[in-house]
Amino acid sequence: MLQDPTKEGRFGEFGGRFVPETLVPACMELEAAFKDAWADSLFRTELNDLLRDYVGRPSIITECHNLGAQLGIRLLLKREDLNHTGSHKINNVLGQVLLAKRMGKKRIVAETGAGQHGVASATAAALLGLECKVYMGEVDVKRQALNVFRMRLLGAEVVPAMSGSRTLKDAVNEAMRDWVASVESTYYAIGSVMGPHPYPWIVRTFQSVIGDEARVQCRDLLNGEDPDVVVACVGGGSNAIGIFSGFVDTDARLIGVEPAGGAAVGRGVPGVVHGMRSYLMQDEYGQVQEAHSISAGLDYPGVGPEHSHLASIGRAEYPSVTDAEVIEGFQLLSRTEGIIPALECAHAVAWISREAKSMQGKTVLMNLSGRGDKDVAQMMDILGPTL
Ligand SMILES: *Cc1c(COP(=O)(O)O)cnc(C)c1O
Repeated sequence: MLQDPTKEGRFGEFGGRFVPETLVPACMELEAAFKDAWADSLFRTELNDLLRDYVGRPSIITECHNLGAQLGIRLLLKREDLNHTGSHKINNVLGQVLLAKRMGKKRIVAETGAGQHGVASATAAALLGLECKVYMGEVDVKRQALNVFRMRLLGAEVVPAMSGSRTLKDAVNEAMRDWVASVESTYYAIGSVMGPHPYPWIVRTFQSVIGDEARVQCRDLLNGEDPDVVVACVGGGSNAIGIFSGFVDTDARLIGVEPAGGAAVGRGVPGVVHGMRSYLMQDEYGQVQEAHSISAGLDYPGVGPEHSHLASIGRAEYPSVTDAEVIEGFQLLSRTEGIIPALECAHAVAWISREAKSMQGKTVLMNLSGRGDKDVAQMMDILGPTL
């Protein structure tokens, strides 16, 4: 089990609650409501029923016999790509939207980058009967027209964020601003293990279902043993912390793979952004830098504070891979196993394939955080229609 944060929301020297005075009561209200809900078996049962009957949990584990043999390792995939809406994001969003209802909120606001968290939020709001407004950088609105239309189909309002670089970090700022102005009626559903306390803790708790399931499933499959290595991609870090939570107290190596152009842990320095202290890509003047990655879902200049903590105590490692390696990884899993991964988790495939020679004979568990359908058009542009 991962440790709970301190009362101040710290994971070691990271995390905390760096928000304007006006948001402190909202954060405290949320923290109290979450603790109360998580201790209530009725809430837990309602969430578990939705995860089973709507999302399709537990997600299965698939052993990759072909790719494993080719790489000289035993390779297991935790199939979050098979969830309703195609990724792990729905685990968190259903938990938070249920919590919002319990708190008597009528309206959800959310930020989204590539659109995946926006679509999951719109989905949960449609199911549970709440209004939903999604802030999305204007640049991303243009790049992700299909996901924008999807959110509108699901009944959500999509608002382009026009400030700053008009991408994800600006969408977070505008969603927070909306929340401050309408906190009585509004719940802010954050999409990853980031933001001010208690968000990183709430999102981790809802995503820990991945690790809880995977640990039991692996022990079944491996005659009571745990995998040697557990690998996931890291944007904000929610799918990674979800699977790590099941293995942090085993001997498994924990690997969070970052994009080379957004290596917050690998190349960042501690700083404050979006209400938290964490590793962050900054320029020489302390300004937050833009992240660049082939996969829009990993374009975040920061990382969840608990990952900064796990890195600083040496419990988890955060290597990075290049876009070129990701393009290879995307094709490798498709061709050898018949599974087209999301570009985000193709980062994890790329790392495994690059490092396999140092893991011969080991068992590697990878979190397949999402399916690749959303990325096929982009890959067709890169690889050409005839491949
Ligand atoms: C959003 C997304 C990610 C990145 O978010 P994390 O919080 O780091 O998990 C990774 N994979 C997929 C499929 C996503 O949609």
